[in-house]
Amino acid sequence: MRFRRIVEIGLLVLFAGVGTEQVADTATSVGRWMTVTAYCSCSKCCGRHAAGYFASGERAYWGGVAADWHLLPAGTKVEIEGFVGTFQVEDTGRVIKGTRLDIWMPTHREAKEFGCQKLWVAMNCQ
Ligand SMILES: [Zn+2]
Repeated sequence: MRFRRIVEIGLLVLFAGVGTEQVADTATSVGRWMTVTAYCSCSKCCGRHAAGYFASGERAYWGGVAADWHLLPAGTKVEIEGFVGTFQVEDTGRVIKGTRLDIWMPTHREAKEFGCQKLWVAMNCQ
């Protein structure tokens, strides 16, 4: 188990090492490529129980994202390639597993237009 942890940390360092220049200036960050999609609070995205709240209990807001809490627990701050500012993990979902990230957007149109992209996601470690 101890060995496995060391290997995992080694991999994270490796991930950071092969990362793009975008994260080169943040020595405290590690990151990875993630499959990023977008959603909104509508019933198409969230089903019949759409209520405009994240799984964390917070009211949905721009800057909140859904992730697999095993990988990125609620409250984790992340930076997403191509976006300004910091996002925070607030939500999760049955299909959000592993290296998946779902960005909450205010309108369904924006979420749909975003589609599905492979983006570099940096996690803030400080
Ligand atoms: Zn929607």
